[in-house]
Amino acid sequence: MNQWHLLPKVDLHVHLDGSLRPDTVLAIAEAEGIGLPVSTEAELIPYMQVDEECRSLPEYLSKFAFTTRFLQSGAALERVAFETLEQAAAHNCRYIEVRFAPQLHRLNGLHAEEAIHHVIEGLKRAERQFDIQGRAIAICMRNHDRADNLAVIEAAARYAGRGLAAVDLAGDESSYPPELFRDVFALAHKRGLPVTIHAGEAGGAANVYEAVEHLGASRIGHGVRLRENPDVLRMVLERRIPLEMCPVSNIQTKAVSGWDAYPIREYFEQGLSITLNTDNPSVSGTDITREYRIVAEKFGFTDRELAVLIRNGAGAAFLEDSEKKALVRRIDAELAALNL
Ligand SMILES: [Zn+2]
Repeated sequence: MNQWHLLPKVDLHVHLDGSLRPDTVLAIAEAEGIGLPVSTEAELIPYMQVDEECRSLPEYLSKFAFTTRFLQSGAALERVAFETLEQAAAHNCRYIEVRFAPQLHRLNGLHAEEAIHHVIEGLKRAERQFDIQGRAIAICMRNHDRADNLAVIEAAARYAGRGLAAVDLAGDESSYPPELFRDVFALAHKRGLPVTIHAGEAGGAANVYEAVEHLGASRIGHGVRLRENPDVLRMVLERRIPLEMCPVSNIQTKAVSGWDAYPIREYFEQGLSITLNTDNPSVSGTDITREYRIVAEKFGFTDRELAVLIRNGAGAAFLEDSEKKALVRRIDAELAALNL
């Protein structure tokens, strides 16, 4: 165990279908009679995890075509949601927001609303068993049609305040710019749902501007390419829009050319509200402790600076006011006990 493991942490950006363990794939395949190309955990890894050679976001996203086949039943969704919290709690993560696209789990006839229900059941079961709080985020997919995405917003609205925290937009950013989704997120606002948007990962800073200004995002997924436009960066800074950065994943998807070009230290020094997250623990081969260790080792973040990132995360949680205050107080007390 190391000092980064001991830190009380928050993870605001985790994908359910990027969190399947190989042993869970084997178990679900067996239970549901799904054929597998291989028969052992080790052999499954290349199908569901990228390595250093990953060349682009589309290549990274291709791993999800494999994993989503095993997330088509209520039992599987509940199990993986539960295990995502179990794994995070083992790394002293105190609060996590788990995101997924309800429309990707309909192959066996589940409705979007049922998918949300089962994920939330898994989160609640884990909350009872481990020292962690979990909320769900429903994702609209860029390559899905308008009707499917509007249905996600309506389904999410029915679970708002009952385990569902917010809505998101994900998928191939370079092919589908955010302005295509204005009416979808206008509905989210009408329903009172908080919004986060994947932007500035495989697209430029203009997408971050559009996400904040026209889609009403109060957080941004990644935002790595924000520095390409100083005006947009200033807007994000002035409006205190937190960035959900995911270092290991951001390098793998080539949001930047490599660690030397990763702007986390620069953004932090400029006063942006940076949060640290895992994105896809099993696809990326990461965990929340590793993300903190990497930022400490590669960018010289001191423990006190890491504590700022943790506090940023707690402050950016999509929780109702009283719940957020309680989380912030708890994280503060635990960090104070570590002299941070
Ligand atoms: Zn993501």
